[in-house]
Amino acid sequence: MNVVICGAGVVGAAIAYFLSLRGIGAVVVERREVACAASGKSGGFLALDWCDGTPLEALARKSFALHAGLAESLETDYGYRRVETFQLAASRKGDLKRYGRMQSPDWLDGNCAIYSALGSQATTAQLHPERFTRALLDAAIARGAKLRRGEITGIELGSGGTKVSSVRIGDDLLPADAAVIAMGPWSVLAAAWLPIPLVGGLKSHSILIRTAASIPAQALFVEFVSETGHPTAPEVVPRADGEVYVCGISDQQPLPLDPSKVTVRKSACNELHALAGVLSTVLGQGDVVRRQACYRPICADALPIMGKVPGVSGAYVATGHNCWGMLNAPGSGLAMAELITEGKAKVVDLKPFAPERLPRARSGAAYMRHTSR
Ligand SMILES: Cc1cc2nc3c(=O)[nH]c(=O)nc-3n(C[C@H](O)[C@H](O)[C@H](O)COP(=O)(O)OP(=O)(O)OC[C@H]3O[C@@H](n4cnc5c(N)ncnc54)[C@H](O)[C@@H]3O)c2cc1C
Repeated sequence: MNVVICGAGVVGAAIAYFLSLRGIGAVVVERREVACAASGKSGGFLALDWCDGTPLEALARKSFALHAGLAESLETDYGYRRVETFQLAASRKGDLKRYGRMQSPDWLDGNCAIYSALGSQATTAQLHPERFTRALLDAAIARGAKLRRGEITGIELGSGGTKVSSVRIGDDLLPADAAVIAMGPWSVLAAAWLPIPLVGGLKSHSILIRTAASIPAQALFVEFVSETGHPTAPEVVPRADGEVYVCGISDQQPLPLDPSKVTVRKSACNELHALAGVLSTVLGQGDVVRRQACYRPICADALPIMGKVPGVSGAYVATGHNCWGMLNAPGSGLAMAELITEGKAKVVDLKPFAPERLPRARSGAAYMRHTSR
């Protein structure tokens, strides 16, 4: 079975990995670099039960458990570890007495107040997102998968337009029995090739800070109360490699066609560093070693689209994971591998994510023309 996976983000890599465990060496086609987009620039924060009560509950819980197993079986150190997670309020000058004050760890010596424990080491974890994505793909390649560089420009259909026959990479055709669209927000382009719903992209900035003193495994979700009343909600995730990830400032900017053309607004990154400095002297005095921005893929109802593309045999889609793609990649990869090889996903029910629940996009190409400059 020739399976072609379009996109080497965490979702494409996870599908390739679980297919490889079933003896299928898929070809993963990537336009730029493995994990060059959100999958390399996300927080890598994982939570067992934060999706409870939503259609993502079973997928998230299964994925959290799979992450623990993968950290053992992939035999690569990608910084997976359990963390404590706190919610806190912070302000440059404002009085935070109304938030009460739980005992704060020493490194949080700024004007901030922890007011709730959001997770313990039993329920929250983290990993380095780029290394995790690469570890999945490397393990798949060790079992027969292949990585091919190239820009996917179309899916060719046979049998009167009802069956995938090949994937177009530039001017080449790669024969395929099955093609999986996993191009994150760029999956919108595939709406010109296949009947799938619209996928959008929401842009956020993040920075990595290298600190002089090491920061404990404590992730923070911050409610930043500014003098103007403008709310900001930065997230702080200290990593096992000694760097501290901070994200939270969004931009309303259209998705560029080329993933390597995502721009970084330096003032947004400086603002993130300044916010981190309000929480902690160690963070404020640390060196910003990376400034970056990325787009998370999002569908109209903020849930992923995962399953068979209606009416086209051999066509599959797996994207739209929004702010939980790192968490939900393992369950998504396993479910998609089951669907492709056995015709049905067993590990989780994919019905809530069926592409046909949303209206078909008119044309991905037209959408991109409208949104990118
Ligand atoms: C700031 C931020 C923080 C986040 N933090 C977390 C977190 O802490 N925990 C969590 O669970 N999730 C988090 N997320 C969400 C998570 O990062 C995404 O849901 C996930 O990375 C999406 O993965 P993907 O594989 O679907 O897409 P992507 O990572 O976008 O990968 C798509 C790939 O397809 C490639 N591609 C595009 N077009 C083509 C083409 N024509 N041909 C070939 N290849 C192509 C791209 O180059 C790219 O490599 C965060 C997201 C953001 C933006």
